[in-house]
Amino acid sequence: MSDKFIYRLDDEISFRKCSLFDECNTDHGDCTNFRIKEFHFCDNYFCNQEGIHFHCTKHPEIELDYDNDFDGDVLTCPKCKNQIEIGSTKALISRCLRVLNREIFKDATLIRLDDWYTPEIKEKIKPTPDYRLTTNVKTDKDGDTIIILYVSYVGTGNKVQYFIKPEKGQLTSDHKDLDPAKIISKIEVTLKNRILTQSYHEEQ
Ligand SMILES: [Zn+2]
Ligand SMILES: [Zn+2]
Repeated sequence: MSDKFIYRLDDEISFRKCSLFDECNTDHGDCTNFRIKEFHFCDNYFCNQEGIHFHCTKHPEIELDYDNDFDGDVLTCPKCKNQIEIGSTKALISRCLRVLNREIFKDATLIRLDDWYTPEIKEKIKPTPDYRLTTNVKTDKDGDTIIILYVSYVGTGNKVQYFIKPEKGQLTSDHKDLDPAKIISKIEVTLKNRILTQSYHEEQ
């Protein structure tokens, strides 16, 4: 298999990335429209069309000729003589770059930046001298967010551990830790579409 790729844009226009896509180089490679700049006594080649070259979809090996018309730019296939009015070359290059981005971003991770969620935040808040709140944000095995909230009473070493799962709408505490009723009377978590409340009334 060849390591050269031609990307099909539509029935008439296909395109390729030239050797100068993303970089300048000390030779022009397969770029057919370049400029040369001297840098540190060495010739550097830059592509004049952002590293994107247009080919005929019916004859993918053939690069289209480029004509600058006063009505707009025209591409012509030297073999089948098909003429394509493209309006602006810049807009066509942008269209090609968007197609390439689809390939780059197809498996991208989606990060939800709601007001309550910033990945991997860790902070310590001291609401009163006696209590300490510590938060930690992780993801569970389903990829959903878990906010872990520790509430501890300073000096005792005891802590209540809450697990808040915003996507699942859950608020739970770890039974292995301190019973929340010992230090908390009520916890309320406001999510986008609901409010979770747990109240504790310790028997005296
Ligand atoms: Zn080029
Ligand atoms: Zn053609």
